[in-house]
Amino acid sequence: MHLANRLNRLGTETAFAVSAEAAAFASDSNKVYPFHLGDMNIKTPQNIIDAAFNAATAGKTGYCPNAGIPALREALAREISDSRGVAYTRDNVVIQPGGKPSIGKFVLTLMNPGDEILYPTPGYPIYESQIEFHGGRAIPYGFIEGHKNFELDPGAIEDSITPRTRALIYNDLHNPTGAESSSEEMAAIAELAIKHNLFVLSDEAYFDIRYASESQSIAALPGMKERTVILYTFSKKFAMTGWRLGATIGPKPIVDCVAKLNVNDESCSNHFIQYGAIEALTGPQDGPLEIRQTLQKRRDIAVAVLGTIPGVRCYKPNATFYLFPNVTNLMKSKGLYDDYEKFRQRVMYETGVSFCTRAHFGRVQDNESQRYVRLAYSGIEANEIEEGLGNLKRWAQE
Ligand code: PLP
Repeated sequence: MHLANRLNRLGTETAFAVSAEAAAFASDSNKVYPFHLGDMNIKTPQNIIDAAFNAATAGKTGYCPNAGIPALREALAREISDSRGVAYTRDNVVIQPGGKPSIGKFVLTLMNPGDEILYPTPGYPIYESQIEFHGGRAIPYGFIEGHKNFELDPGAIEDSITPRTRALIYNDLHNPTGAESSSEEMAAIAELAIKHNLFVLSDEAYFDIRYASESQSIAALPGMKERTVILYTFSKKFAMTGWRLGATIGPKPIVDCVAKLNVNDESCSNHFIQYGAIEALTGPQDGPLEIRQTLQKRRDIAVAVLGTIPGVRCYKPNATFYLFPNVTNLMKSKGLYDDYEKFRQRVMYETGVSFCTRAHFGRVQDNESQRYVRLAYSGIEANEIEEGLGNLKRWAQE
């Protein structure tokens, strides 16, 4: 069968393969501690479910406007204006079936084949996939492990900019590292974008999953609103991963193109769910608060246990629901420094602890000497975190 050549350039999320392997292991009566998927085992707040259900019962079951229902676009424009400190109207908002579609639609709207887009690796693997699938060149930039955070190197990023560079993908509050930019770092990235006339996709999937201090958006910095496209999602803050609802927010000419892509791709996002999203934004906020508190407790337990495991070093991020411990010494002590997959599988088969490694988050670069794994604590209860990481500790001590 001759499939289209472009499929050779399409990547995927290999975390789903880890999930399948963990499920197969569990089905043989083995205990699995699921740290691998960024999904959530927390239920969506009931008021949101009720609002969507009522809308469906009231007949909101047909097509709706391609860019989303006006009341939701309006509510989201208000929410983003307030939380980011940038004035948006509903003309700047186009509703999407999730946060993820904003990535490909950003690329399709702003990149010509042969253009270059800077993206983080480690990072969400769909960036690399979408840039290359649509005929662009994905130019990686990495992080430096600091004492309390992973940091960017704006000088190194600037060195990678060429006359073909069109855009930069920036995921502050970062999957998988949990990294957050200082104000200075964010200002330096903005300065680069302005100096080199780049568009920025600001992936703000974890903007509201924060346990201390406040999130900032690069869109709020001077000169940035007109060149920034925000990826927004309802998935994390409201525990709505399976509902598939998000938005692309940015300059009207870009948003209008993205709405036209909506017409071609899915016609519109699910109609009655958008009423649930209005309730999420404008109704009581104790649901998302409880979600954050649950996650914070899990983070604290995980970081505390990881801190006692020989060969493991892990800082405590203020945001996201991921930890990205440095496991270089543990991999070395087990003779597995050069094989992420073998290390991951041995840990799962011998301790039940299932996680993704750095290799699941974009291409590993030649200059990476440190080794990392990603633990997601959004889909595992606190007592299981303690038990699973206790197993990992005993294994590390053997
Ligand atoms: N961006 C990042 C950094 C993510 O981690 C995710 C999901 O895990 C997404 C975007 C996509 O979010 P959604 O599930 O709403 O499509």
